[in-house]
Amino acid sequence: MTETRRGVYPAPFNDPHADATTQPFWDAALEGRLVASRWNACHTVVLPPQPRCFNCQGKDFDWVELPGTGTIYSYTVVRHPLLADLAEVVPYVSAVVELDGTQGAGARLSANLIDCDPEVVAIGDKVRVIFDRTSDSLAVPRFVPAP
Ligand SMILES: [Zn+2]
Repeated sequence: MTETRRGVYPAPFNDPHADATTQPFWDAALEGRLVASRWNACHTVVLPPQPRCFNCQGKDFDWVELPGTGTIYSYTVVRHPLLADLAEVVPYVSAVVELDGTQGAGARLSANLIDCDPEVVAIGDKVRVIFDRTSDSLAVPRFVPAP
């Protein structure tokens, strides 16, 4: 990153331990695209992908690109640095974002909400994804407030 952002949780998980099922998500993130699995039989959108669809028990899905916007479903403000490395980044916001473009139950993504005032974050706020390139092989999805 070339600019200074606020509330960025460090990315100690330089390896997301992707496997054959989840690697397409990370490949798309490197290209700045937010994708999710959509089951062919019932069109339910799920993140992360599962071995079987929870809705129809189907086995086959395709990856679809999402608009990258969403709504805060839940969040917490972390104020206490559990590790010394976190002392300079608290408070930071960890949010569960319900993703636009996912019908039905809605696919949700747990991610860091940055460049916001933790004192005014609220459930229902609109957000959009950005991809924080933390290495040559990893772009971490984070969210910022959307107008
Ligand atoms: Zn299904």
